[in-house]
Amino acid sequence: MQQEKTLSIIKPDAVAKCVIGEINRRFEQEGLRIVAAKMTRLTKKQAEDFYGIHKDRPFFNALVSFMSSGPVMLQVLEGPNAVALNRQIMGATNPKEAAIGTIRADFAESIDHNAVHGSDSLDNAKQEISFFFTPEEVVTYVKNTELA
Ligand code: GDP
Repeated sequence: MQQEKTLSIIKPDAVAKCVIGEINRRFEQEGLRIVAAKMTRLTKKQAEDFYGIHKDRPFFNALVSFMSSGPVMLQVLEGPNAVALNRQIMGATNPKEAAIGTIRADFAESIDHNAVHGSDSLDNAKQEISFFFTPEEVVTYVKNTELA
């Protein structure tokens, strides 16, 4: 299967719940490697630009305000079919519709506070990764199955 990279954001609600480790355990268990990571707090402008596609939606202001309300963990995940696999591990946007055992089913409170972001296409993944990371900040490694 094709190796892909995708952007993941552990959102302020999940950071504040102290479930970064549990979320990353799930990514790694499912075969996604963390190849870049940065903890930061988004400025309002960064959140507005990142979610620019939603600027005319009624939830835009609440989304920007939430995403800039506290620290987030920005990560690049790499692995086979990473874009779709990450979306599967995340679960549906609305946690009420998220499949059992997904991150959003287990950790999200509502559609507004839904724990994680993940790119929804390979093209968007490339754009979103370059929004937050320089090429030098993204590393390369393979899983050492002799150690694992
Ligand atoms: P995602 O890719 O699953 O995160 O969903 P989208 O890219 O479509 O939307 C970005 C974020 O905006 C979601 O994660 C939600 O937090 C929020 N959002 C999307 N649709 C709605 C909606 O209909 N109502 C509200 N309140 N928030 C929404």
